[in-house]
Amino acid sequence: MKALVTGGSGFIGSNFIRYLLTDSEVNEDLEILNVDKLSYAGMGKNIEHMGLSENKNYKFIRADISDKDAIEKIFSEENPELVFNFAAESHVDRSIEDSENFEKSNFLGACNLFKSAIKNNVKRFVQISTDEVYGSIENGSFSEDAKLNPSSPYSATKAAADLNALAYFKTHNFPVIITRSANNYGEYQFPEKILPVFITNLIGGKKVPLMHSAENPGLNVRDWLNVKDNCRAIWFVAKNGNIGEVYNVPGENEKTNTHMTNLLLNNFGFGEEMIEKIPHRKAHDFRYSVSGKKLKNLGFLHKHNDLEKEIKNLVEWYKKNQNWWRPLKK
Ligand code: NAD
Repeated sequence: MKALVTGGSGFIGSNFIRYLLTDSEVNEDLEILNVDKLSYAGMGKNIEHMGLSENKNYKFIRADISDKDAIEKIFSEENPELVFNFAAESHVDRSIEDSENFEKSNFLGACNLFKSAIKNNVKRFVQISTDEVYGSIENGSFSEDAKLNPSSPYSATKAAADLNALAYFKTHNFPVIITRSANNYGEYQFPEKILPVFITNLIGGKKVPLMHSAENPGLNVRDWLNVKDNCRAIWFVAKNGNIGEVYNVPGENEKTNTHMTNLLLNNFGFGEEMIEKIPHRKAHDFRYSVSGKKLKNLGFLHKHNDLEKEIKNLVEWYKKNQNWWRPLKK
């Protein structure tokens, strides 16, 4: 079976390709086609670093999903049966500075994929979305039918793609499944996101920038999901989920940013003198929380949710793999 993975050179996409090609949980003979435009976030040579670029079941095509003709050509020539769309601009702060690429890739690019998938009779299409589409919640957790209330151009463009995917399901019977996951952490995350920035700064003996104000001294809550469990969940819903449905993927580890900062500082034997307080981003969501009941009812179980142990391993990974992240760090 041929699976098209878009954005397979980025953080989650490359972990997903590694999972499909190497994990014994996936007992299927898969050919993987990675389509990625290699934006700054895809420049890490993750697949090469994982030792998978020469795998006989792996192929790469450099293309931009917002290029409609290039995408249609790929679908008609390659005939994928499964599609997993990871390709997106993913950094909230960049979307606040300039949202144009987010609109192009996250919405228009996704729509191009939906249309080509329908035209070429793809069997399953998994659209990778985010818990950020629901916006912030003070108490409780959002279920899949909650109102979408995004706060940033990043999350708004992801929400727009979700809505169009579901409309294409109703109108054209598009075989789409949407996953909305919590904050991922793990190997090969680009050193612009909070955990890799903090870890790589601490390796270099530099302070960590924590968003802070008098009213909110770093108390924003994120739910931390190991990227390996997200990859497992994405494959799991592709096999077991129902088309036209949305599945939340929580991390089962809600922590304040201050808690995560202290966890990292402890791993390095540093104290709070290594924190540099910086202002909150505009419209900084206070807390993300999604209910994972629907996914659990389908039979999915997390495997990697011992957060302290996983973070310790992650710190060791960034220490050992400086040849991967040093060329990418500003
Ligand atoms: P990433 O920025 O590390 O990787 C994105 C990849 O997509 C890069 O390789 C980039 O080159 C590619 N890309 C970007 N625009 C493209 C385009 N127009 N055409 C082709 N390729 C393009 O992002 P990530 O963290 O791996 O996120 C992957 C997906 O998961 C995104 O859709 C994101 O919204 C979603 N998501 C991420 C998280 C998280 O915590 N990282 C959480 C929930 C959902």
